Amino acid sequence: MPARKLATLAVHAGEEGTWSVPSVTTPVYQATTYRFETAADAAAYLDHPEGRWLYSRLENPTVIAAERKIAALEGAEAAACFASGMAAIHAALASVLKAGDALLLADTLYGETVRLAQAVLARFGVKIVTVPIARLAEVASSPPPEARALFFETPTNPTMRVVDVPAVAAACRRSGLVSILDATFATPVNLRPVEHGADLVVHSATKFLNGHCDHLAGAVAGRAHLVAAAVAVRKSTGGNLDAAAAYDLLRGMKTLELRVRRQNETALALARALERHPRVSRVWYPFLESHPDHALARRLLGGGGGVLSFSARGGFDAICRAHDALRIVARASSLGGVESLASIPVISSHRQASDAELAAQGIDRGMLRLSVGLEDPEDLIEDVAQALERA
Ligand code: PLP
Repeated sequence: MPARKLATLAVHAGEEGTWSVPSVTTPVYQATTYRFETAADAAAYLDHPEGRWLYSRLENPTVIAAERKIAALEGAEAAACFASGMAAIHAALASVLKAGDALLLADTLYGETVRLAQAVLARFGVKIVTVPIARLAEVASSPPPEARALFFETPTNPTMRVVDVPAVAAACRRSGLVSILDATFATPVNLRPVEHGADLVVHSATKFLNGHCDHLAGAVAGRAHLVAAAVAVRKSTGGNLDAAAAYDLLRGMKTLELRVRRQNETALALARALERHPRVSRVWYPFLESHPDHALARRLLGGGGGVLSFSARGGFDAICRAHDALRIVARASSLGGVESLASIPVISSHRQASDAELAAQGIDRGMLRLSVGLEDPEDLIEDVAQALERA
């Protein structure tokens, strides 16, 4: 073989062959494309892509490891990762809906999901039918004839309402509707929707699954043919997760059970302390006896979750003063990380909601949502208490 010149060496030297090292972690496969040995191998990819590699918009080994872990955690036949929760939700919906179909949409959802349905999917001929969360099972039992899918969340933001997932999923099954549940707030530690009959579960993996507020990510898990359809949308729309983010998601998920168990405990302790606080008028946490869905939550969920909301007696100005006085809890949107985060729904997630919409969802202007991190529970209770002195 002729001696290679410097430019060729710079590109190829030292990297011949495939490293196969028994590392205990999955490496970051930082590659956009993969080598074929022969033309026959390249051609075989088209017939049998499983176990073969072409291009990272289609498949990447680090991402596939994260997908397998999510499928295992959810008890699902398959899972797929996406660049964000919204990319996952888009792919799940776009893969089951076509022009002329109706989508049954729960009335209490993450705002961007509603905009995706009403501002994007509706333009492609999908009819959006909004259903109050208390009537999901009833409407799914006798849906409009063109209805094809039902999308809902549990627990919901910011009042942590809990939907009877087995009842809704069973009604969807009987009516031939695809049931899709955004279980971002629950995580598979507290709820495994597939085991309760849901066809697809979606996550903003940006939140608890990754758990460290350092990457956007999304996931769809559930029945294999539905996940495959969402992957086909991902292939065309380009929403696959990046390998480096997939590595961090894999690492985050290794501690998911420990983190969420601790977050469940701390959130419940904080919720109980807040219920006793003289400046607090109401606390929303599903494992509190005062929550409207307490009995269902105890039956369905492994824990109340890491997010709670409460209202200051003094209303908006009072909660703004308390919010600004927090010392440990960061004033930030998002949730599910190791650091505690606080946001005021009427100036963040629900800033566009009318008074009537706020009232219908039980949200008042003095409400603060708190995502509980992994700080010491006593320190957190003390921080919120000292902040409430200003309320
Ligand atoms: N679903 C829920 C319940 C969310 O809270 C969010 C984001 O806050 C999303 C979906 C969207 O996820 P992402 O921001 O990862 O796109």
